[in-house]
Amino acid sequence: MLLCEDNPKIWSQFLDYAEERCSATAFANWLAPIKVLHESDEGLTLEVPNVFVKEYLLENYQKDLSAFFPVKNGEELPLEFVITAPKKESSKIVVEDTSSSIIAPIEHNVKLNRNYHFENFIEGPSNQFVKSAAIGIAHKPSRSFNPLFIHGKVGLGKTHLLHAIGHSIQTSHKNLKVQCITTEAFINDLVDNLRNKSVAQMKKYYRELDVLLVDDIQFLQNRLNFEEEFCNMFETLINMNKQIVIACDKPPSHLKLSERMVARMEWGLVAHLVSPDLETRVAIIQHKAEQRGLIIPQNLAFYIAERISQNVRQIEGAVNKLSAYCHILEAQLTEEVVVEVLGEMLQHSPDQHVSIDNILKSVSQVFDVKISDLKSGGRLKNIVLPRQVAMYLAKEFVKESLTTIGSAFGKTHSTILHACKNIEQKIKIDPQLARQLQLTKRALQDQL
Ligand code: ADP
Ligand code: MG
Repeated sequence: MLLCEDNPKIWSQFLDYAEERCSATAFANWLAPIKVLHESDEGLTLEVPNVFVKEYLLENYQKDLSAFFPVKNGEELPLEFVITAPKKESSKIVVEDTSSSIIAPIEHNVKLNRNYHFENFIEGPSNQFVKSAAIGIAHKPSRSFNPLFIHGKVGLGKTHLLHAIGHSIQTSHKNLKVQCITTEAFINDLVDNLRNKSVAQMKKYYRELDVLLVDDIQFLQNRLNFEEEFCNMFETLINMNKQIVIACDKPPSHLKLSERMVARMEWGLVAHLVSPDLETRVAIIQHKAEQRGLIIPQNLAFYIAERISQNVRQIEGAVNKLSAYCHILEAQLTEEVVVEVLGEMLQHSPDQHVSIDNILKSVSQVFDVKISDLKSGGRLKNIVLPRQVAMYLAKEFVKESLTTIGSAFGKTHSTILHACKNIEQKIKIDPQLARQLQLTKRALQDQL
């Protein structure tokens, strides 16, 4: 039995409780319009004017409400909702028709990060395709792919590209109205406009845009009612041939959204942004350092890029730290400074899953020798050097004892140590070998 006879007024008790805790406007807009249709042993049936009120109640008061019911943590509340049948007067909250009424315009304020332009987005194999698609859209909005859906892990430049499209269109298509929003801002806007009964203005505003850039669409997941509203706006804009670009941390098919929404997002071009390769990371490090007035020598840029590999935002953070350190202490940038300042940001072993086979394969590719020769005891000069490189890399990357590494090459651990010392000395004086070593590391990374 959920509700007892001697406690029949759960809803009015809850209202007293909530009224003390929210603003008078919020109470009047969201809670007061809720009517109790039925209170019984089975639970409570509430009548709400629209789905947003239901969502507001559950989002803001689910936990508090559960205190008014004998339910355990995690159990569903015994609540049912009925949405008021639409009456002419009550349709004020969600106004569908915006064309005939006089609606105050919403100020058009484009929110673009002034640092995010195409010019300072460093290009490499990982992002070339996405960047070209973005530039294509910026040149000819609504005339290439619509929508463009950019997805990729965090910190890889999705927001940067979205804003770069915005800037470029603002410069070269001055007559077009662009807006860039995060999905969260869209939802908050919608909630505010519902509360202020100004959804009509909001809808009109979005419908009058020529280009809509939407960031972090993954936040639309599990926001059922907002999803529908968003989907309607999306369809309206696309049908009017307005350009939409969406950024997301996963591809459309992995989003927990309705089939309709997923299908809409797959209509145009779906483009995947992946982690930049070593050379692109080096270019990004040097570019970001230069912007901050810091010169990072090539070897140190490689050193950092090898150890911070997944995320450009992290790379940027590392450069910021180094730049601050060097400016404040007027220090020269050295490997010791990098290690001291970046500390835990650097992965000590750039790759934890490297095997000796991976290394042999990379060395054989870069030095153009056979894997079987690298493993044999042959003493030809063109084999000995690559073999020592392989041993040097094995010591650096393979998490095994020197004896184990040695036995993989049919050698003792002291031979491995000798090989490492030899390579360490040689790369200081032989730039070609240093370069080959970098290439081998890159080939190694590409295998993983
Ligand atoms: P996401 O939106 O994918 O999480 P951001 O666009 O916020 O990533 O990028 C994180 C940071 O990294 C930003 O400061 C951005 O300028 C920078 N960044 C990402 N990729 C590049 C790149 N290819 N060139 C220059 N900067 C980049
Ligand atoms: Mg982002």
